[in-house]
Amino acid sequence: LPPSDPAQLNRQYVKGFATDIGGRTSHSAIMARSLEIPAVVGTKTVTAEVKNGDIVIVDGLDGQVIINPSPELLAQYEQKRARYEAQKAEWAKLVHEATVTADGIHVELAANIGTPDDVKGALANGAEGIGLYRTEFLYMGRSELPTEDEQFVAYKTVLEQMNGKPVVVRTLDIGGDKELPYLQLPKEMNPFLGFRAIRLCLEMQDMFRTQLRALLRASVYGNLKIMFPMIATLDEFRQAKAILLEEKEALLRQGVAVADGIEVGMMVEIPAAAVMADQFAKEVDFFSIGTNDLIQYTMAADRMNERVAYLYQPYNPAILRLISHVIDAAHREGKWVGMCGEMAGDPIAIPILLALGLDEFSMSATSILPARAQLKQLAKEEAARIKETVLSLGTAEEVVSFVKRTFSLA
Ligand code: PEP
Ligand code: MG
Repeated sequence: LPPSDPAQLNRQYVKGFATDIGGRTSHSAIMARSLEIPAVVGTKTVTAEVKNGDIVIVDGLDGQVIINPSPELLAQYEQKRARYEAQKAEWAKLVHEATVTADGIHVELAANIGTPDDVKGALANGAEGIGLYRTEFLYMGRSELPTEDEQFVAYKTVLEQMNGKPVVVRTLDIGGDKELPYLQLPKEMNPFLGFRAIRLCLEMQDMFRTQLRALLRASVYGNLKIMFPMIATLDEFRQAKAILLEEKEALLRQGVAVADGIEVGMMVEIPAAAVMADQFAKEVDFFSIGTNDLIQYTMAADRMNERVAYLYQPYNPAILRLISHVIDAAHREGKWVGMCGEMAGDPIAIPILLALGLDEFSMSATSILPARAQLKQLAKEEAARIKETVLSLGTAEEVVSFVKRTFSLA
């Protein structure tokens, strides 16, 4: 199930899906989350076990697939669904509220989107901004590159609909599990470590410049921030930013309006960049931590591979130390830090990220209201007290049980 497919699923007919392969942060799973389609990925065997006509429970909350449940079990799950719907109705009351912790600190809750159509869901779920617009979906499911004007319309639409709220647009991040067959790139042995994202854009500059021009032209319609994906070295960031500035100058010379002061940032999703965050922080306007990739590269565990899913550990102290280092490095330079990996919306991670000082949490739209409800109960000052303890623990399990105990999470 490639990531472009869930984007086209019709919620009216598709009540859920389950796959044999894939991880929680594969793009199919991410798309399912934003469409609110219950999904369980990486079951290894579901397609061999299920037959046409079977009744299947897909419990996306707890990652369970149950084939032909007994009437009692079915009734239990009907109740579970009803409880979840009731909980959602409670969360919905927070849709117009600001996200303020119990001690009065504002944190920004933003949405991750893949297409302009997703803005509706982001706003309906109370997003205070867009923390990640994955522009690659504009390039996927078609047979040629989108034109500058097509892209301009997409970016302008998002900016206008967000009506002055911040919109962080990520430049093309193709590669890994997101393919563009029409670019006819040679197959690679390790696509997640290969010729992708900013690496490809710095080489295929016509394509990159077209996207940057579309973004710059759209910038006057809202509050645009631009970030580059998969930055590993300072040199890559400098090159990408220089190209952006060249295109900006060229547009201004032609008399095309471009917004002043567009913030330019980067994803921190490669461990080298996280380690060097103090150097990057001097040159960027902001960081957005991409834990989906940062975890897979730090743990050397493919985010798509269910067989090594046990190593894909967001709460591993190695990951938390990297995140903490990135946040501290940025703050020392007066820069803000967001997180747009799936971890930002995870109820166990949220108290930790608050403790580490994260400024902006960007997540699937459907996670925003539960996160807001949770943050209202947490005091930042109290959370900050656990920082040292969490960072000194030895294993992910220890972190999870410590956080659950401290914040009375189920
Ligand atoms: C990430 O890597 O955490 C991220 C947000 O980007 P993507 O999931 O698109 O790789
Ligand atoms: Mg990534």
